[in-house]
Amino acid sequence: MNFDTIIIGGGMAGLSCALRCLEAGLKTAVITSGQSALHFSSGSIDVLANTPDGTQVSEPFQAIENFAQCYPTHPYATLGKDLVSHAIQWYQKTLSRIGVPLSSQPNGQNHYRLTPLGTMKSTWLSQPFVHQFPLSLRDNTVNKIVMITIDGFRDFQPKLAQDNLSQIGAFADVEITAATVTLPSFNTIKRNHCELRSIDLSRLLAKRSHLQEFAFALQKHAKPGDLVVIPAIFGNGKGLANLKEVEQLTGFNLCEIPTMPPSLLGIRLEEMMKHAFIEQGGTLFNGDHVTQGEFSFIEHAEPEQSHYRLNRIFTKNHGDFPLQAKQFVLATGSFFSQGLKANANSMEEPIFNLELNQSETRTEWYNTRFFSPQSHPFLSMGVKTNHQFKAIKEDHRIDNLYCSGAILSGYNPILEGSGSGVAISSGFYAAQSIIAQLNPQFLVNHPSDIKQQEVAL
Ligand SMILES: Cc1cc2nc3c(=O)[nH]c(=O)nc-3n(C[C@H](O)[C@H](O)[C@H](O)COP(=O)(O)OP(=O)(O)OC[C@H]3O[C@@H](n4cnc5c(N)ncnc54)[C@H](O)[C@@H]3O)c2cc1C
Repeated sequence: MNFDTIIIGGGMAGLSCALRCLEAGLKTAVITSGQSALHFSSGSIDVLANTPDGTQVSEPFQAIENFAQCYPTHPYATLGKDLVSHAIQWYQKTLSRIGVPLSSQPNGQNHYRLTPLGTMKSTWLSQPFVHQFPLSLRDNTVNKIVMITIDGFRDFQPKLAQDNLSQIGAFADVEITAATVTLPSFNTIKRNHCELRSIDLSRLLAKRSHLQEFAFALQKHAKPGDLVVIPAIFGNGKGLANLKEVEQLTGFNLCEIPTMPPSLLGIRLEEMMKHAFIEQGGTLFNGDHVTQGEFSFIEHAEPEQSHYRLNRIFTKNHGDFPLQAKQFVLATGSFFSQGLKANANSMEEPIFNLELNQSETRTEWYNTRFFSPQSHPFLSMGVKTNHQFKAIKEDHRIDNLYCSGAILSGYNPILEGSGSGVAISSGFYAAQSIIAQLNPQFLVNHPSDIKQQEVAL
């Protein structure tokens, strides 16, 4: 099978890249083996909450402007503020078009979202029913917060969240309560408490009578105008429409918060992107696993110009039958998704055996203090690339293999709160570079001020 582009990995980076390639009319395939990090995510888009040295950031794009000087090995330093900002705006527009509107604060600052533990986490874009608290919490305008869960659901504990939220000084005057609702019709699935997960509840709430029963039960614990915090139990598809209906029935301001996995807020993003990709003509090999690639070596008189080309790849499901493309993108994630693997003494990129930026010895991979504020060095390790994010193998670039997302080195998505920002912008960058080679006319018709387009050419 032949494609213009094959993207390996169907998480935030791979799917962003794939949707952009499709927009430019490229014949695009995504091969993805398992669940991406989105199944564990809040579904909010973190761009930059802290600099790599741990300083809190209020205006992420302004902060990224200084990265080339201050953190030259960070992916944002190579991408540049203009590309990152353009990519995030493109993502916001794209997601809105495919059914998940995302919004940020009009003042150019991050906002806080409430976590299931009742703490605040800074982020850039959030979904419609995620309440955006201002970074300056003293400017919070909510007077009453009611935290509600469903009897038998373990993955959100409102009392715990209530206790933690009340510790925040700026909430001293905010009334915070917690409640549990019992829904008789939900007893049908309460075979065992361990089995009641957000996905089960979302299936039940898809039925109108259950939705109304839920709305009615909520009304016993809150009044119109209250901020009513509920676990994310409304699924994909009509999930957002159903939440709107509950708001209309009750007059509450609803706030969804992510639960323990499966996190429906993150899954909502992944499913909508995959759905749009297929609908727009992309080929998705879901549940397949890329095992290896075949390369040729192009030798030049000047040794530094010599490079590899990836000709074709092999997967578990396709066996001896190879998949070919002009350009490839590797977006297989970090250790979490097995894009990287750690052995007793070394790390490896398991498909192509690419060069990695990693510490020599295992003792340098981690901090001796598990909860150290400096986090763990292994989180910043990943593949080595050139300045165009092309992979490196045996000291030579692979000319048609771009890397994007969590497999990249030089940043720490957890400490910085930059995970989706790097994934979207590096995926978008790879797509722009590929489009510049395979369909440059598209970029002429859709101009932008992205300096990296010239680099890619
Ligand atoms: C637990 C957790 C929570 C997070 N929460 C947030 C959050 O709330 N907000 C935020 O902005 N960021 C969050 N992040 C960070 C952010 O989600 C990630 O940085 C980003 O989503 C990474 O996307 P990715 O596409 O690079 O990789 P991934 O999401 O890891 O996707 C990689 C995909 O590649 C597939 N794959 C791997 N190997 C192969 C192979 N050989 N063949 C085919 N497919 C393969 C995997 O199955 C997976 O589907 C979180 C990260 C984690 C780990």
